[in-house]
Amino acid sequence: MAKYDFDLFVIGAGSGGVRASRVAASHGARVAVAEDRYLGGTCVNVGCIPKKLLVYSSETSGDCADAAGFGWRIGNVEFDWRTLISNKDREIARLNGIYRRLLENSGVRIIEQRATIVDPHTISVGSDRYTTEYVLVATGSWPTVPAVPGAEHAITSNEAFHLEQMPERVIVVGGGYIGVEFAGIFHGLGASVTQLYHGPLFLRGFDHDARRAVADEMIRHGIDLRMNCDVVRIEQLGGGIRAILNDDSTLDADAIMYATGRHPHTSGLGLEDAGVKLDAAGAVMVDRYSQSSVPNIYAIGDCTNRIMLTPVAIAEGRAFAETVFNRNPMSIDYENVPACVFSHPPLAAVGLSEEQALKRYGAIDVYRSSFKPLKHTLSGREERAMMKLIVDSASDRVVGLHMVGPEAGEIIQGFAVAIKCGATKRQFDATIAIHPTAAEEFVTMREKISPA
Ligand code: NDP
Repeated sequence: MAKYDFDLFVIGAGSGGVRASRVAASHGARVAVAEDRYLGGTCVNVGCIPKKLLVYSSETSGDCADAAGFGWRIGNVEFDWRTLISNKDREIARLNGIYRRLLENSGVRIIEQRATIVDPHTISVGSDRYTTEYVLVATGSWPTVPAVPGAEHAITSNEAFHLEQMPERVIVVGGGYIGVEFAGIFHGLGASVTQLYHGPLFLRGFDHDARRAVADEMIRHGIDLRMNCDVVRIEQLGGGIRAILNDDSTLDADAIMYATGRHPHTSGLGLEDAGVKLDAAGAVMVDRYSQSSVPNIYAIGDCTNRIMLTPVAIAEGRAFAETVFNRNPMSIDYENVPACVFSHPPLAAVGLSEEQALKRYGAIDVYRSSFKPLKHTLSGREERAMMKLIVDSASDRVVGLHMVGPEAGEIIQGFAVAIKCGATKRQFDATIAIHPTAAEEFVTMREKISPA
């Protein structure tokens, strides 16, 4: 008889937990996964997928405005928030079903309740206890709202996806992925949007030219973007709110959304009592194989606070299952992870920013192109695209690619393979362009600019 009820007990059926469960099961492991909220986790339910659907909707207003330049006469356009949200909910329900079937068809037992760790080999779920050889913590992350007086009046991305009505005036606090994306979503859907960032320029960590380009386009589109600005207090005001800012001015709105980061979702799981070391932010501390300080307990995804991106969690989940259940030690290379902020227009990047490249390599060559996309020569839309390529002068390797412009995510994804393969500028130059595209700029840039 088996020593334990399961070979693997996964806590959290998000992107990473589901991938790990399925791969482990495919190698013959007896797997259970516990989930107390929604199958598919943040990405499927209140993250990447519904966000992208809202982004598509918000881009439609611009497409309608562009149409006239191409000869189309479109009458009055109207937007209905409830239709968008109910269509989005239907799609999410479909995806939840797919996740359920994927797990079931892999032979994974789904336990739709909260699980906590009693000791390294025992898991408690309601009044039941299960024993397991290995535990995988894949509990994700949760929005962080700073302790501003009146913060209880604020919403986060969790609530933004389920609002009864679209707020006509929105304040977005925070200048990271979520803040920038939701500022664009609400603005595109017709709201009047003010975005506040407490530092000099938002999207910290991205290349400075890309950050500036996104800011310029958002301002051009009509978003009230305020840097060095923060909320000191929030008050309820009729059906809306009033935000008192650090310069003593006030802003009234129907909703205030905080997008000020996410923290590892690890409290109350029994991790510390089981001997699992957490860092100051509450993240499970793991080695390169995602193994925690307790040898049979592993952790992957946002709860380890490495890179909070769905594809990274999925890769970590697979690597864990290969390592533990297929005797095939696998770890993730965190260099050159491509990323896209689905702003209007989107920003995508792979590799190093100019600042990071300069620090690492000393001598770099920088190429940059800023242009009006062909489409907007007829649409009349005032919007520019920016593309930038950074080369290590000594090796000629392209070490950073940055783009702000239509389809930036789609374009950078393809080029990320070349960067991962160590492509040189000479190889970029030898690549024939596809004309006319925006992406061709990356293989036709010849003029170096002086590094900033
Ligand atoms: P981010 O860490 O990206 O951004 C948080 C923002 O809030 C930063 O601008 C930060 O400023 C600011 N901030 C932090 N604390 C405070 C505070 N106390 N008061 C005011 N501002 C504050 O987090 P997000 O919430 O935007 O997203 C969480 C994670 O989810 C991201 O890191 C990303 O990995 C992932 N994500 C990825 C997406 C994608 O791939 N497209 C989409 C959405 C999320 P500062 O510059 O000082 O840090």
